[in-house]
Amino acid sequence: MVSERMKGLGTARSVIRELFEYGKVRASQIGAENVFDFSIGNPSVPSPDAVNETAIRLLTEQPDQIHAYTSAQGALDARERFANSLNRRFNAGCTPNRLYLTVGAAASLCCVFNGLTCPGDEFVVFAPYFPEYKVFIEGAGAKMVLIPPEIEGFQIDFDAFEKALTPHTKGVLVNSPNNPSGVVYSKATLERLAAILTEKSEAFGHPIYLISDEPYREIVYADFEVPWVPHIYRDTIVCYSFSKSLSLPGERIGYVFVPKEVTEGADVYAAVAGAGRSLGYVCAPALFQQTASLCCDMTADLNIYEENAKLFVSALREMGYHVVEPGGAFYLFPRSLEPDDVAFSERAKKLDLLIVPGSGFGAPGHVRVSYCVQTETIRRALPKFQALADSYK
Ligand code: PLP
Repeated sequence: MVSERMKGLGTARSVIRELFEYGKVRASQIGAENVFDFSIGNPSVPSPDAVNETAIRLLTEQPDQIHAYTSAQGALDARERFANSLNRRFNAGCTPNRLYLTVGAAASLCCVFNGLTCPGDEFVVFAPYFPEYKVFIEGAGAKMVLIPPEIEGFQIDFDAFEKALTPHTKGVLVNSPNNPSGVVYSKATLERLAAILTEKSEAFGHPIYLISDEPYREIVYADFEVPWVPHIYRDTIVCYSFSKSLSLPGERIGYVFVPKEVTEGADVYAAVAGAGRSLGYVCAPALFQQTASLCCDMTADLNIYEENAKLFVSALREMGYHVVEPGGAFYLFPRSLEPDDVAFSERAKKLDLLIVPGSGFGAPGHVRVSYCVQTETIRRALPKFQALADSYK
């Protein structure tokens, strides 16, 4: 006998992974240059040279220590560097004893959900959303309450949001810049959200925590700004990862930050650490605790994403697609040209164009297009998008 839930998760088909695997098989049949794979969010720019040089230097200079266990919450010197960087950049008031280093944003989120959840708790999530949120929240024994998408701009439907808040609401999750829509929440949007959360926290007699999932924080375009969320809402917990900003998704390094202003913050931090212990997320990869903390003020060269976004949005709009302008990350979320996004994605697949149906992100009638690819790939793919549009005329 095994856990049916876990068996289900272990065998369930992820549409993104399936498309990605299909793309590889298809590439072996017709050549990689003829498959236009916009399915997955693997950064396409290399890590800065300094990251590789730092890792090599650490391996050479500290061969006996660099592979050793660190403290469960991460090495103190690494946490000090991360804290100093957050303070320099955001005036964050961060101290190392409020940082818990983890294997990426996925583990950061799991530590937070598991650390916060008491029986009956709910977390509010805005569609479209990163599908793993549901797995993480339910894995922690809580319920995910989904707010339907506001499809004109993928901002927040505040009426629906207010109605969804109940005394069971333990937290609300925001992800800006967003996967899959690419939109960035403005300061005004976050302020309105904060005002509602403050009012409801008072009414319910307990804090509603705002969990800010920010793996795309640094991938933001010229006319947009990503505000530092803890300055807008006191009870914010930050989940971060270097997967996208330093192009290090496979190295699994990120953190949870519980600011000192957070209500019962010492308990929240202790519970995050306890959840890390219970889940086995202790001692994040030692080499990359050091490497990322020594390189955390830099980013990979992220300019290509903005270039890709501009090219893609204007070309798709000319072809008649409806696309909300992204402010960052590296995803577009256009409307499918028929209501059934799965059928639309299947039709695209026949043209060797791999795009992910929006239903899995809680927004049917849309598809996700990951544009973390070479600009040339987008240029060569445009006739395919045109053919797809023509097939509906
Ligand atoms: N949150 C969002 C919105 C993501 O898009 C991703 C990964 O793509 C994650 C979390 C997980 O990030 P990590 O690879 O750092 O675990």
